[in-house]
Amino acid sequence: MSSSEKILIIGAGGQIGTELTETLRAKYTGTAVIATDVRENEGLSKDGPFFLLDVLDKAAIYSLVEREKVTQIYHLAALLSATGEKNPEFAWQLNMDGLLHVLNAARDLKVGKVFWPSSIAVFGPGTPADHTPQDTVMDPNTVYGISKLAGERWCEYYYNRYKVDVRSIRYPGLIGYKSAPGGGTTDYAVDIFHQALQKGSFTCFLKPDTALPMMYMPDAIRATISLMDAPAEQVKIRSSYNLGGISFTPAQIAQAIQKHILSFTIDYAPDFRQAIADSWPNSIDDVRAGADWGWKMDYDLDSMTADMLHHIALQLGK
Ligand code: NAD
Repeated sequence: MSSSEKILIIGAGGQIGTELTETLRAKYTGTAVIATDVRENEGLSKDGPFFLLDVLDKAAIYSLVEREKVTQIYHLAALLSATGEKNPEFAWQLNMDGLLHVLNAARDLKVGKVFWPSSIAVFGPGTPADHTPQDTVMDPNTVYGISKLAGERWCEYYYNRYKVDVRSIRYPGLIGYKSAPGGGTTDYAVDIFHQALQKGSFTCFLKPDTALPMMYMPDAIRATISLMDAPAEQVKIRSSYNLGGISFTPAQIAQAIQKHILSFTIDYAPDFRQAIADSWPNSIDDVRAGADWGWKMDYDLDSMTADMLHHIALQLGK
């Protein structure tokens, strides 16, 4: 697609950014999609512009946005739930200061649209765990969840007060084969596929019956771009949209894998991530995303499992 858009992706080298950059570069022409990360990334430099950018460096963000006449920002850089618990103060600094730099740059330099992901981690032990509604009790007890909840409030504030067109999704745990997960509580649901194909067995850091909302990456990327493409008046929630996805337990994903690899076995050694998972919802009600911008998920547990195993087997040369 040819257009006058100039899209800046911050934190493009991570699990979501890798796939989002690829999809946006297929949609927009030549140099329209600028990938940036605090770490070098050979893959992203190959098929479009790539720059080193630290989201904590406010001046560098302003200068890049001005120089490149950026019209949209996808801000993905963050410390995730499990990593955040190891370094709470830094998680707060990176997740909050980074977001404020991006929102300020969007306001001051008149960037057309901003995407910033929130998470199911905004919910906590007081939240109704099944079919968690859009508006409900939010009492996160991880620094990651606290930073995402505060971030949602800031996004809505910048929309209301400064008319920054910021859009957001509360992603569930995301599962994909193209890039490795970055230190979240749902990472087991990616690792299990690799271990199933490589070793035929997997030790899970959560208990067998821990249900969590998850989503296959192609659905998550499609949701993100649909939300960004929606006319502004259809985006009625300016904090962050619930997105449901597939809800399953470690035991259920293991059964889905056993339909393809009969001899696959799983055992369980819960660690500190069990407490984080226990504080999150089992499933999410995303009726508002459907009503406002037409969201509908494609992949269920079985179709995702078949696709993951197929692609990882190809990667392993099996
Ligand atoms: P990730 O950890 O895989 O990637 C984050 C990227 O940000 C990395 O490439 C890292 O190098 C980069 N980064 C770190 N510090 C930076 C800095 N100072 N400046 C610039 N870049 C920096 O994370 P992800 O899974 O791709 O998640 C992206 C976003 O989506 C995050 O905001 C995360 O909270 C959110 N999210 C992810 C999931 C999931 O399951 N992956 C679920 C809910 C929300």
